[in-house]
Parts: sequence; C-alpha cells; structure tokens
Amino acid sequence: MSYTQSVIQTMSEKYPHQKFFLQALREILETLDDEIKRNPIYEKNAILERLVVPERSIAFRVPWVDKEGKIQVNQAYRIEFNSALGPYKGGLRFHPSVNEDVIKFLGFEQILKNSLTTLNMGGGKGGSDFDPKGKTDIEVMNFCQSFMSELYRHIGDRTDVPAGDIGVGAREIGYLFGQYKRLSNRFDGVLTGKGLKWGGSLARKEATGYGSVYFAQAMLEDNGQSLEGKVCAVSGSGNVAIYTIEKLYALGAKPVTASDSKGMVYEENGINLELLKQIKEVERLSLEEYAKRSPSAKYTPVSQYPQGRNMVWSIPCFAAFPSATQNELNAEDAKVLLDNGCKCISEGANMPSTLEATNLFIDAQIHYAPAKAANAGGVATSGLEMSQNASMSIWTFEEVDSRLSDIMNKIYRNAKETAKEFKQDKNLVLGANVAGFRKVALAMIEQGVV
Ligand code: GLU
Repeated sequence: MSYTQSVIQTMSEKYPHQKFFLQALREILETLDDEIKRNPIYEKNAILERLVVPERSIAFRVPWVDKEGKIQVNQAYRIEFNSALGPYKGGLRFHPSVNEDVIKFLGFEQILKNSLTTLNMGGGKGGSDFDPKGKTDIEVMNFCQSFMSELYRHIGDRTDVPAGDIGVGAREIGYLFGQYKRLSNRFDGVLTGKGLKWGGSLARKEATGYGSVYFAQAMLEDNGQSLEGKVCAVSGSGNVAIYTIEKLYALGAKPVTASDSKGMVYEENGINLELLKQIKEVERLSLEEYAKRSPSAKYTPVSQYPQGRNMVWSIPCFAAFPSATQNELNAEDAKVLLDNGCKCISEGANMPSTLEATNLFIDAQIHYAPAKAANAGGVATSGLEMSQNASMSIWTFEEVDSRLSDIMNKIYRNAKETAKEFKQDKNLVLGANVAGFRKVALAMIEQGVV
C-alpha cells in the first residue's frame, strides 16, 4: 500500500463518523499520490501524518439568553489546523449542520486554499450550530458576545484571524469585533470582513463571488472561450451567489437561477439582482418572497425537486456556479449538467460537488475549477484586508479588485502549470492540490518537527 493510501486508511479507521472530513481528505491525498511517490522527502518528514492532524482544536460551550429570557446553549469550535505559512486564517460558520466533522473538512481544505492565494496565511476554521435565521438582532448579538467571550483568548492579528462564512456576515463580524475589543482592550485586525468605516476592506464582500467568476474567465480565455452572452446556473443566494451573479452580468453573461434552503427560482431572462439583494441582504427573507415580487420568476420548492437531486442543475446552461454548500451537486446532477451541454464549472462554495460528481467532470474534460482554487478570492481579499490593517492604509475598490483579479489569474496559471507536469493538462483538481500542498510541505520541512 502506498504512503498516501496508508494515511487515508489510518484516518478512516480512526474517524469513521467524520464523513465530510474523510471526503476532503481522500480527494486531496489521492491526487497527491504521484507527487509524494516522486519525492520521498515527504514521507521521511511524516508530512502527511502531521498535515491531517490539527495543530490545535478548541471546542467550547456558548450559553446565551434568547428574547423570551430563556437560556440557550450552543456548541462551538475553532480548529487551528496548520500555521506553516502564516497565522491561522479562515471563516466562522453559524449553521445548525455545524459539528466537528464539518469544521475539520473546512479547515483542512483551507490550508491548501490559503497556500494557493500567494499570500502568507495558515489554515483554520470555526463555527457553531447556532442558527441566525429567524433570530432578532439582539439575540444574534447576545450569541456573538458569548461566543467571543471564549474565543478572544485564542485569536490575535498574528495568531489566528477568523472571518465570515455561511451565517456570518457583516452584522455578526461587527458584534464579534466589538466584544473582542472590549475584552482585549485592543483595536487590531483580528477579524476580516469588518465594516468599511472601521478597518474593513473595500471589495471584501464581493470578493468570493467575483473571484469565482474571474477564475472561470481566466480558464475559458485560456481555451479561446468567454462568458459573454452565455447562460449560467448559480446555486445559493448568500454573499457568494449574489456577487457571482453581479460579476456575471458585468461580463455580459446571463445568470438565470438562485436557490436557498426552501427552493429555487428560475428567470429565463436573467435573475433580478436588485430584487435578490433586497430580499436577501436587506429583508433576510426566503426566495418564495422573490418569486411573489417577480412575475417572470418560476419558483420550485425543495419538496418538488426530483428525488435526491438539486433542481438548479436541471436548467440547461453553458456554465454552472455552485455557490451554496457542501455536496449540493451529486453524480446525477453532474450527468444532467453534462448531458445538457455544460462546459464550465466554477465552485464558489466549499466542496459543493461529491467525489463522484468531481470525477465525472474530470473525465468529461470540461473546464472544471475546484473550490479551493475557484473560491480562494474571498480569503485572499481577507489577506489584503490584513495588509491594509497592518500598514494602516485604505486601498480603493479598484485597487483591491485588480489585485483580486490578478491573484485569481495566478492561481489558475499555477494550477494549470502544475497539472501539466503530470501530463493531465485539464485536471485542475490535481494541479491545485499539488501546488497548494508543495508550499505548505516545504515550509513544514524547513521549520522542523513542530
Ligand atoms: N469563509 C471563506 C472561505 O471559505 C473566507 C475565509 C476568510 O476570509 O478568512 O474561504
């Protein structure tokens, strides 16, 4: 058995219930197999055994008081996975599905994603099973203050810099920052995604979505194609989906779908972006409300989706942008997309395609941009926010946006050139994993057994 396979096996036996973590682990380690066989130095330094175990895991209780005066308790985590390249960096997710398995898979992916950004950031991730949906602002504030009352002792602008993810946006980051500042008596860049008047970076909000489209554009242009005039399917309706849609319009494409946990909307002539922002960013309502206000929208509730499928992927499109959550696109969905002539996938969400779906895309030789490359624009722009905070400067929107576009192009070229070395030119999963891994592994070797 190869070194890679033996590490996969040990981890599968140790953590049989951590299915998301094992899925991410398998996807990454299997693609590293050739690179690792060619370079015995990795095995000699036990790089894989060290890489798969977080440097530090914090699990903590978050007690808080709801609007009825009742005491609530949530479970929270911060997993500081790897600091070979810089301070731990990665978002916080507030969603009922959060558990240690989910945070471990996200944290593990984050190590290689952050390595690809070209900036110096280690990998970490955190969150809680708290659901901000339907809560009042005061309840969200109470929760965030209690969450930070424990977390503040573990983080710092040179130690661990959390940010947003699903369920954590500008409102949550504001409350978290306020409590951090109060407890630590420090105003520093300990969180990214901050408000624009108090240390946040212009274009951070837009960055993950814009970045995913810039990546698709780079990949298509390199192959003599473009997004102009093309029908695109987008899933999700959070921050990533909204700014994917915005950038697609800017490039002359036609994004026709959006979805949430209750259903999806299809707009033959293109999603009404202003209405989507109003419903999701301002009023925090479901897409059912969007459909009520847009006569041209066709709404399908989740209960009417074909068995085990995501309806968004039944809409014929040239390019698909999965921008909701993990495993939202399975083998059946992938087959339908391919049958309908889909030529490009750019993953804005983390691990949105199952392993089977990923393999179908690779085999079909379409332009497939895996999450850790395609959605790295968010965390990369967080890195740009850290730079601005550290130098007490404020860059213009255009400055940040052009650096973001430049980074996405570099990530694409790096993944492509690396894939070429293995004579698998189009396999950006392989290219991104190997390119991200090499930098982390070399730093670990140079820093000794720590
Ligand atoms: N949550 C985002 C991600 O998955 C952004 C993290 C950050 O900005 O630190 O990469």
